Amino acid sequence: MNHLQEKVCELRSLLAAPQQRIVIVSHTNPDGDAVGSSLAWAECLRSMGHCVTCIVPNKYPYFLDWMPGIDEIVIFKNDEEGLATRAIGEADLIFCLDFNALSRLEILSEAISNNTSARRVLIDHHLSPAEEFELKLSYPESSSTCFVVYSIIEALCGVDAISKSMAEVLYVGMMTDTGNFAFSHLTPELFRAVAVLVERGIHIPTLHNNVYNAYTEGRARLFGYAIDRKMKVIENGTVAYMSLLESEMRRFQFQQGDSEGFVNYALTIKKMKMSAMFLAHRKFIRVSLRSRGDVDVNLFARRYFNGGGHKNAAGGKSFLSMKDTIEHYIRSVREFAEEGHLD
Ligand code: 5GP
Ligand code: MN
Repeated sequence: MNHLQEKVCELRSLLAAPQQRIVIVSHTNPDGDAVGSSLAWAECLRSMGHCVTCIVPNKYPYFLDWMPGIDEIVIFKNDEEGLATRAIGEADLIFCLDFNALSRLEILSEAISNNTSARRVLIDHHLSPAEEFELKLSYPESSSTCFVVYSIIEALCGVDAISKSMAEVLYVGMMTDTGNFAFSHLTPELFRAVAVLVERGIHIPTLHNNVYNAYTEGRARLFGYAIDRKMKVIENGTVAYMSLLESEMRRFQFQQGDSEGFVNYALTIKKMKMSAMFLAHRKFIRVSLRSRGDVDVNLFARRYFNGGGHKNAAGGKSFLSMKDTIEHYIRSVREFAEEGHLD
């Protein structure tokens, strides 16, 4: 990671004053990487004597409920006592983990922007970080924010500072953001980090089981339904899309996180280059995009769905109806293909 040492020097001076009030925030619909990196970084900061509050805009998926320390995370949407707003207002330092622009905090972004005196630090691995951070530890070449946090802790305190619980939550982010170590950016350094986590006592089969084999029966049946009935293939079998309406989700007792991984499944088809998932919400449709190799869905998401992410995994939103969203997608894919982006 380029310039990590220099950035860690700057970070060290930001953390030098004792007992600071620190807030760690992560993105809307927090995933294993968002939660894992927040929990590990919080434990590290607490061990330095700081007072830390972790906040996420809305609930993480239920299959992460077992993660050590997760009950301490304040869910802004359910925070009736105003704990989160108070902690943000009083914060000296705000760490923004696993996202690249405050807008990705959605309902939480205003509260963070309102604290103009706190210094804001970004720790992330998405492309194109926004300008709104005083210090940016932004490493798009890293496969997960958990690996960035691991590297920061290593440089700041040494790996002996990593406890078993930190190792467990860091592993979850590394595992989930790489599709169980199958996607891009799998470097020797990442596997050396995993080796250290194993030395700290993590049990990989247990962690894998906790995350990937913990779904409900409804989720298993929804998956079958979505693949068989809702997956559509266009562009001569090279592009797929799938959509789920709220009525369909209700039928299968949908819980947040149940559709995780659905968008990836179309890419198990050999010819497939790009896949989309359209998930209806009350106010808009959440768009998830995945691609293989050189096909750049970060570009596609920015151009057509006001979003972004990584080259092979991106997302955005649509404020059209489901039917119009799908028509917009099909037209956009055609234009993208005509410009040679799907070759
Ligand atoms: P997912 O499909 O798993 O929700 O998201 C895939 C990737 O796209 C993640 O890295 C996520 O941060 C990014 N992403 C998802 N939705 C949005 C969005 O609305 N805007 C931006 N800029 N990125 C998004
Ligand atoms: Mn991530």
